[in-house]
Order: sequence, then C-alpha cells, then structure tokens
Amino acid sequence: MRMPFIAGNWKMHKTRQEAVELVSALKSLVAGVTGVEIAVAPPFTALHAVAEVVEGSNIALAAQNCFWESEGAYTGEVSPRMLQEIGCRYVIIGHSERRQYFGETNATVAKRLQAALAHGLRPICCVGETLEEREANQTFAVIETQINEGLQPVAPQQVTELVIAYEPVWAIGTGKTATPAQANEVHGFIRDLLRKRYGERAEEVRIQYGGSVKPENIAALMAESDIDGALVGGASLQADSFARIVQYDKER
Ligand code: PEP
Repeated sequence: MRMPFIAGNWKMHKTRQEAVELVSALKSLVAGVTGVEIAVAPPFTALHAVAEVVEGSNIALAAQNCFWESEGAYTGEVSPRMLQEIGCRYVIIGHSERRQYFGETNATVAKRLQAALAHGLRPICCVGETLEEREANQTFAVIETQINEGLQPVAPQQVTELVIAYEPVWAIGTGKTATPAQANEVHGFIRDLLRKRYGERAEEVRIQYGGSVKPENIAALMAESDIDGALVGGASLQADSFARIVQYDKER
C-alpha cells in the first residue's frame, strides 16, 4: 500500500517572513491529518526558517534542487549534504522549469539523483512531455527516455526511496490539467517501466501528478489507480487551498 504524498513547490515565491507565515498557517490547518504525507519546498533562502516551524509536525521539508558534489568550488550551488543537514527530507530533481530554463538534461538529473540518494535525501524526480511532443504522439517515448536515462544510477535497493512526479509541461501553471484518465495512462506506463527495471519494488514507488492541481480537481485525480499524490505549484502558495488539496477525501 503506497502512502499518498502531496508536496507543494513554492518555486521562486515567498521571502523568509512570508514563508514562515504560510507554513505556520498550513501547520494549523493540517494538524491531525493522517494517512497522507505532506511536504513543502520553499526557496533555499527560507529553508532554515521553515525547518524550525515544521519540526515535530506532519509537514516534511523539501528543497527545489541540489547539486551533485558534496562541496567544492561550485559558486552558486547547494549540495545535498547541506540540505540534509538543514532538515530536508526530500529534494525536487529535474523539474521542467530547470530543464527549460537552466539546461537540465537527463544526464544531469541522473547525477543529482545519485548524489541526493547518497546523502539520505528522497528525490522527487520530475518527468513530462511538452505540448509539441504530446501532439506528435511522442509522450511515451519521451517519458521512457527520461526514466531510463534519469534513473540510470538508481540501484534496485534505492528505488523505493524515489518519488516520480509526472508533470506534463503543457499543464504546469497553465490552468490546463490532464484529465484523470490521461494522467493515469502515463502513470501506468511509468509503473510498467519501473517494473521492467526493478521488478516488484516498482509497486512501492509513489508517482505524483503535477500540473494545475487545485482543490476542485484533486479528488478525481487521486481516485485513479496509479496516481499516488500530487506536486502542486500555484495552489500551494495559499495555506487554505493547499490544506484542501491535502485533505482531498473531503473534496469529493
Ligand atoms: C509545479 O510547479 O510542479 C506545478 C505543477 O505547478 P502548477 O501546480 O502551478 O501547475
């Protein structure tokens, strides 16, 4: 049985003060919620302050990226060792915005995944096709390459630490959500790829959906067999909407 997992990706939003206000409000709203794992991914500058607020609560801390070396002359980078020490449990890797604007490739995703796992962080590895790729019927080929190349260094005994986020690029921040059936079709395909590489362990890997998730559409998405949670951008920036998503069983 896979524990549902809902994570909020705050992207480049929230000063330290705003982040503390948001996570404090969220903490009150989701106190006592069980049966679903919750995480927030603030920007690096707010991680420490948010870590202090969520300590001992049911909200885990995630970072939005990490480098693959643990230290060295890499100006501007943040290492998995630093994130682990500050209290991060998860790290988002290979988000489509990193691929689109910062030159992230499947090869760099592989290096980051390996480093994160080596430092005890649980990666949320993002995959997804662009609109052009979907329209050219390349969705499955793109996802297969992203999974096979990105997860190349992930050993069988590590794969259950991994979370995959299927985020069709055309649905991120656009208000267009994949239908639950469209999303589940790709989730099932990802699970099959994982089965081929990792056998029965694939059943334990959580696959989140991401792309304009809101309180209004989460319940239908979560009702699908291979959708195990959500990576939420815009709707995680308000405590009440994210708390409603986390408690998706009340939104039916
Ligand atoms: C995301 O940031 O991963 C995301 C899915 O954003 P949004 O929910 O705003 O589409």
